[in-house]
Amino acid sequence: MTHRTIPGLHHVTAISGPPQDNVDFFTGTLRQRLVKKTVNFDAPETYHLYYGNETGDPGTILTFFPFVDAGPGRAGPGMASAYAYAVPAGQFDAWMERLAEDAVDFDGPVTRLGQRVIALRDPDGAPVELIETDRVADAPLDGFHSVTLWEQDPEPTARVLTDIFGYEAAGSQTEGGMERLRFAAPGDARGAVVDILRSDAPSIGRPGAGTIHHVAFRAEDHDTHLAWRETLLSQGHAVTPVIDRQYFDAIYFREPGGVLFEIATDPPGFAVDEPVETMGTKLMLPAQHERLRERIERVLPPIRTAA
Ligand code: ZN
Repeated sequence: MTHRTIPGLHHVTAISGPPQDNVDFFTGTLRQRLVKKTVNFDAPETYHLYYGNETGDPGTILTFFPFVDAGPGRAGPGMASAYAYAVPAGQFDAWMERLAEDAVDFDGPVTRLGQRVIALRDPDGAPVELIETDRVADAPLDGFHSVTLWEQDPEPTARVLTDIFGYEAAGSQTEGGMERLRFAAPGDARGAVVDILRSDAPSIGRPGAGTIHHVAFRAEDHDTHLAWRETLLSQGHAVTPVIDRQYFDAIYFREPGGVLFEIATDPPGFAVDEPVETMGTKLMLPAQHERLRERIERVLPPIRTAA
C-alpha cells in the first residue's frame, strides 16, 4: 500500500520572555535570520517572531510568542521538551570552540544514538540542542535535526507517527531513568526525526516562558494538507478547520499524549508579503490587523535587529 508520509518538521513554536534578549540570542549566538517580524494573529498586541535560514525554508523555522510578563514555564509529560538544530558536517568542533570563545555555557558533548550533542540554554532557560550531522550545508546550522516529546506512555504517540505520518522506528537508548525512542520520516528532509522521551518520574509541566507551545509538521501543498485533515478525522482525531496563517495554512490537533501538533503547508512561504532580501526588518501585519497598525506599533516593545 502506498502511503502519504510527512517529510519532517515545518516549524516549532515556543514561548519566551521579553523579545530583545530572544532576538539577540537567536540572531547573534545561533546565527539564525529573523525572517519575519509580525504579531500573534489571535492576540496582536504580542509579537510573533520567526527565525530561520536565509530563505526561511520549512524545517528551519523556530517561532516565539514573547510575552513581556510571561511567568517561567517548565516542560513535563505531555509537552515537547526540546528541539535540536542540525550542525552541518565538519562544523561541530568549530561550534564548540566559538561558543567557548564567546563564553556561552553549554552542556556536553554527549553521544546520543551515535551523534554528538551539546545543549545550550536560551535567555529563558529553555534547552537548545545542537546535534552533529553529516548534512552538507553552507549555513551555520542546517535547520532542525529533531524535536523531543516527553510522554508518560509513548505508545499512542508512536502510533500516530508510524501509522499515520509514515515515520519508522529508528533506535532507542536509555538516559538515566529515561528511555529515548527515535522515529524518523523516510527521506532526507530537514527535521525528519522525532524522539519520544519516556519517564516514570512524577513531574508536572507548566506552560510559560521557556516552553514549547506546539510542533508543526509539513504538508508540501494544499491538496496534501486537506488530505491529512481527512485522514486525521477518519482516525478519530479532533482536528481544527484549516486556518490561514498568512505564510502557511495550518490545522491543529492534540496527539494522544497531550502535545499540540500542527500540520502546516509549505506554500506560500515567508516571501509572500515582502522581498526575501529584506524579510524580518519591517513589522508585517495581516490584512485584518493592518488598520490597527498605529496602535499595535505603540504597544509593542521596540526591538533592535543587527541588519
Ligand atoms: Zn505553528
